Amino acid sequence: MRIIEINALDNGAHNNQTIDGEIPVPSGWAIIPEDMVCENFPFGDVVVDNSEPPVVVEWIPGVIPEPDPEPDTEPEPEYKYILNTNSKKIHYHNCSSISTMAEKNKQGYNGSVSDMLAQGYTACKTCNPE
Ligand SMILES: [Zn+2]
Repeated sequence: MRIIEINALDNGAHNNQTIDGEIPVPSGWAIIPEDMVCENFPFGDVVVDNSEPPVVVEWIPGVIPEPDPEPDTEPEPEYKYILNTNSKKIHYHNCSSISTMAEKNKQGYNGSVSDMLAQGYTACKTCNPE
């Protein structure tokens, strides 16, 4: 046997606690029929009959609250492009070859690729910045 607490809290909400087992049904609790499916439990409400102890005749599914969206942990890149000042290559900031680049050769850049091409830089063939 499964029973559910039906007494409303002060704010009108139900605890929707359930207990399994062969126990005396306390006041403020009702019996959930074996075949009743409580969709979205514990977010829902019950309709009980007038029997003593009461039996749940209807389960009204509630709305499961949406989980809070994951905080956006990906920081905005400081620069759109990374220039290799040694090889004169232009890369997107997330290009795989940047990790192999010496720190001293890296330079962040947010201007246009064509400006750097005009200064003798070439576009990386891996990330194809444009
Ligand atoms: Zn690249």
